Amino acid sequence: MSKFTAIRNSKKTVLRNRAAVVAAGIGVTAALGAGVATAADGGLLGLTSGVGKTVSAQADAQAKAVADAKAAKVAKAAKAAKAKKDAAKKANAWGKPVDKYTLGSTFGLAGSHWSHNHSGQDFVVPTGTAVKSVHKGTVVKAGPWGGGDGPAYGNAIVVRHDNGMYTQYAHLSQIKVQPGQRVGTGQLIGLSGSTGNSTGPHLHFEVRTGPNYGTGIEPTGFLRAHGASV
Ligand SMILES: [Zn+2]
Repeated sequence: MSKFTAIRNSKKTVLRNRAAVVAAGIGVTAALGAGVATAADGGLLGLTSGVGKTVSAQADAQAKAVADAKAAKVAKAAKAAKAKKDAAKKANAWGKPVDKYTLGSTFGLAGSHWSHNHSGQDFVVPTGTAVKSVHKGTVVKAGPWGGGDGPAYGNAIVVRHDNGMYTQYAHLSQIKVQPGQRVGTGQLIGLSGSTGNSTGPHLHFEVRTGPNYGTGIEPTGFLRAHGASV
């Protein structure tokens, strides 16, 4: 078989034929030409295989990028949902009326300072300490003379909460809210002091079932039952 026959008989690629022609052109045998062609095929195979790998890698990278983008979107949505849930949880939480304090006279205590048993819980704090609403609600009383409850309370605030309960903050040096105003959990409503019937700076705090004096219940147990650590 001549080298030309070998070329005609070839069913291989154009590249292989070219390789054989090149081989023939430089005077090598058809057999050697076939070997060169095989090498060229091998090169082509390697090349296309390499291209295949590259294309496959690109497809993988694109698929991963799409998957990553989807995952990021899902994570972002989950984060937003959590933030919304946390905000709702925070809005529905109950907190402490002052951040740092020493617990003073407790609810129900019969003492020389009161004509009746103690109607709330005292939080001993320096004058000017930030007093915060323990829960969201609406201010129903704010002013001197206990906001209408009596001179013993000094400057006082009463907030009506959405669950129908009330909280009262007394002996304040300053009042920062007005009746009718909406307040949020932890919102600054006044500064502590020693106005009214008080022997020293402290916050007198009550939890009430109604807006007026005489409806107080034990406040620390109530706050703890609602998640506040007092
Ligand atoms: Zn008190």
